[in-house]
Amino acid sequence: MTVIHKARADSAILPNFTDYDGTRARFDWSDVPDLCDGMGAGLCNIAYAAVDRHARGARANTTALRFVAKGNTTAATAPRDMTYAELGRLTGRFTSVLRTLSVNKGDRIFTLMGRTPELYISVLGALRNGNVVSPLFAAFGPEPIATRIGIGEPAVLVTTREIYERRIAPIRSRLASVQHIVVVVAERDSVPAGTLNFWDLMAEADEEAPIARTTAEDEALLHFTSGTTGTPKGAIHVHGAVAMHYVTGLYALDLHPDDIFWCTADPGWVTGMSYGVIAPLLHGVTSIVDEGDFDAERWYRILQSLNVSVWYTAPTAVRMLIKAGADLAHEYRFPELRFVASVGEPLNSEAVWWGKRTLGLPIHDNWWQTETGGIMIANTPAFDIKPGSMGRPLPGVDAYVVKRSADGHLLVIDEPDVEGELALKPGWPSMFRGYLHEPDRYRKCFRDDLYLTGDLVKRDSDGYFWFIARVDDVIKSAGHLIGPFEVENVLTEHPAVAEAGVIGKPDPIVGEVVKAFLTLKDGFTASDDLRLDILGHARRRLGATVAPKDIEFVAALPHTRSGKIMRRLLKARELGLPEGDLSTVEVDDHVGEVSP
Ligand code: AMP
Repeated sequence: MTVIHKARADSAILPNFTDYDGTRARFDWSDVPDLCDGMGAGLCNIAYAAVDRHARGARANTTALRFVAKGNTTAATAPRDMTYAELGRLTGRFTSVLRTLSVNKGDRIFTLMGRTPELYISVLGALRNGNVVSPLFAAFGPEPIATRIGIGEPAVLVTTREIYERRIAPIRSRLASVQHIVVVVAERDSVPAGTLNFWDLMAEADEEAPIARTTAEDEALLHFTSGTTGTPKGAIHVHGAVAMHYVTGLYALDLHPDDIFWCTADPGWVTGMSYGVIAPLLHGVTSIVDEGDFDAERWYRILQSLNVSVWYTAPTAVRMLIKAGADLAHEYRFPELRFVASVGEPLNSEAVWWGKRTLGLPIHDNWWQTETGGIMIANTPAFDIKPGSMGRPLPGVDAYVVKRSADGHLLVIDEPDVEGELALKPGWPSMFRGYLHEPDRYRKCFRDDLYLTGDLVKRDSDGYFWFIARVDDVIKSAGHLIGPFEVENVLTEHPAVAEAGVIGKPDPIVGEVVKAFLTLKDGFTASDDLRLDILGHARRRLGATVAPKDIEFVAALPHTRSGKIMRRLLKARELGLPEGDLSTVEVDDHVGEVSP
């Protein structure tokens, strides 16, 4: 096995994390600095630790967020810089706006917009007000939006005029809980009837609104994630998660005070919130926020011209850069780049080596999920990288490979290289505290005092973890977790579709693409026109990220004895794999799917 040796200790900037075994042995969560101690005994708020603390401190004039606007296609013109002090004033104003609207501590607020300053102001200002914030992915279609708003029942939705008109107005009658829709419009533009103008409200607001008296256990964020069955799950996270984001910023992302950090994930997904918003602000560094979509030239230009020093990205993006070719990469230089990490899906060893060859730095894969709230397992500067592995558990994280015994208990597998489900010992601060309104679904994630992750892994004799597969049917496409059930539901709304079975079909760039197998109702005949019509319907209802890319018409779908569609069999057939004895397989949520 070829390894990439850890960074040399005599490099210009000494990594934060150099002694893996020693740091793990000594680590205790109670020793992590209390970033909220300025709030008063027992109080904690993410926005205080991330913004207020710096806005009135030594980093007040440091740039907190550097926004590259979408229209800035070459990323060549000056970005919009916002210092910690300015972010403090603007988030204070948004807190005042919410108070004027009688939005109280604990009320939920959803955001639905691209990576613009207003998104960051709304999220952090609402956290300051003690609200529970759920940032929705701006590319969702009306159906995923309505489903999530239906579950989360927010009092307020903050969005843009364009999104409102296209995707909110048609479903407004389904958003009964939403008392206020706050809309961001271009200067001098008016807002749609029945909505409020974001900047008009801000203009009249007081920037000194005191921060809410929240504690570490108060709910702060609601991140939706998908299971195999049922509706999306709203994972609840608390303010005390800041301890995790701070520690992982140190150990897994190697953040230093003068870093220019770029997390390419959208805050509509957990990575973009935990590491695109919270962790870098906790560390007082400058974060790049690119409003634009992926484009290889644009990304190289940002890395180069904005002097990015720490870059946190995703395997799909790396593979798209590889596809764009070495010649393009060699037009750019990255002298400031010091550390590169990636998350969200398996990072193939070739991608790790590409980093080493092209950027001069290997890519440090790490693993975590919506429920864990922060990075759990990582390749860090403290040890050699084994390309293709997710790395080793961070200090404060205990990870196991388990199988279920005949009596339903978990057997921890100590021998190396044996496949089993990844389980974690609860106790880290950013652990989710529940699925909103679904205590049973939450309870089923735990067994014998361990949290079951739903991922099949192996651990080698050096303690490195290797990802094998999910144990359930959720799909990872371009790093986005997609629940097949949500897609199937929308497909069966089409008048021609009788039944739908949706799988993730392996793809060399995006990991998996969503593929649907459909049976048709009597009177409909399979044709290319019908396929296009159904694809169009799915894109309109779900948004391009979630909608299937491929549809196959079949005469019948395989079912379990109790009538559930056997997605695994569809997948095995698609891949030409042995179908095995799947007659009794009944896949529910990821938990409890460890084979005996
Ligand atoms: P999400 O909750 O959307 O962040 O998705 C979490 C899931 O993404 C995990 O349970 C894994 O299945 C997958 N995942 C995340 N990071 C990695 C990684 N480094 N390697 C393999 N799979 C990953």
